[in-house]
Amino acid sequence: MTLATTKRDYYEVLGVPRNATEEEIKQAYRKLALKYHPDRNKGSKEAEEKFKEATEAYEVLRDPKRRAQYDKFGHEGVAGFEGFGRGAYTDFSDIFGDFDLGDIFESFFGAGFGTRTRSTRVRRGRDIQYDLSITLEDAALGKEVQLEIPRHEVCSACGGTGSASGTKPTVCPVCNGTGQIRQTQGFFSITQTCYKCRGEGKIITSPCRVCKGTGLEEKHRKITVKIPAGVESGSRLKIAGEGEQGPGGGPAGDLYVVVHIQKHPVFERHGNDLISVVDVSFAVACLGGEIEVPTIYGKKAKMKIPAGTENGQIFRLKGSGMPYLGSYGKGDQLVKINIKVPKKLSPRQKELLKEFARIEGETIDSDREFYT
Ligand SMILES: [Zn+2]
Ligand SMILES: [Zn+2]
Repeated sequence: MTLATTKRDYYEVLGVPRNATEEEIKQAYRKLALKYHPDRNKGSKEAEEKFKEATEAYEVLRDPKRRAQYDKFGHEGVAGFEGFGRGAYTDFSDIFGDFDLGDIFESFFGAGFGTRTRSTRVRRGRDIQYDLSITLEDAALGKEVQLEIPRHEVCSACGGTGSASGTKPTVCPVCNGTGQIRQTQGFFSITQTCYKCRGEGKIITSPCRVCKGTGLEEKHRKITVKIPAGVESGSRLKIAGEGEQGPGGGPAGDLYVVVHIQKHPVFERHGNDLISVVDVSFAVACLGGEIEVPTIYGKKAKMKIPAGTENGQIFRLKGSGMPYLGSYGKGDQLVKINIKVPKKLSPRQKELLKEFARIEGETIDSDREFYT
């Protein structure tokens, strides 16, 4: 799912400081995008790569949520996003004015990139990304969660037409209903989105009062999502057709649930193995015995440790790790021994330890007591 691991830092790519404002980020991207624009660098592979790299960096940093994710977790935090096409939200008219870049982006990132396509009247709805935070226990057992997704749906008052009931939109007089205006400017041949109807090809004369002519209504939709056992942090679950409704009756986008697993106080995850540290008394470490080990599944496991166990020694509890995603079996739990040194001793315990030390031929502090 991820590209090369040698990806450059997104801030470095755009040449902006980490605290850059949204406007600075936009300006930096605009400069780079125009410089490396494929129309100005015909056939240059390097320019193309730079253009793509800058676009990817911009796609992440322009979105406050995604940017925060990136700041916290780096490329991992926004992993899977390289797929573009489907997850891209940028309206590039914002950057390039009304230049129609649909073809360029389409050839780079595949069909469906962004929100601008040739036929502007019926568009696919945008994808929605939802960040979901779960515990490691949830990831181990799998979980069904109910999400409340704010999204746009077809307006119930006008059925999505955007016109008040009993009225009809009129054909745009500027573009004659095509939604586009073609112009030649220098070496550019530009197709601009019609300024009058914004590419819709028609003009709503009396807009619906509920949706103000957009044909869409903001609703909160409850969706049940099954988080599979063994899921990894950063995984994206795709729920097809649960994104935004497409304007003009276009197909709905997809919903992407990005799973983030919280840090666990006891277990550290390494792939499918879990590492935990367990305290063992020095007597048990010396003599051997049975200890209880917490597992991610709630039930404690009993584990035998041999006489002469060393501090930091690691034992393996087979099959107590994370489940393999989409298949059978589990990883292991690695139990790291931490030998506890008792801080409070009874006189009897002290006596026994002194005796132990004397047998070993060791001098201990309390032997010297009578010198002071
Ligand atoms: Zn028009
Ligand atoms: Zn409406």
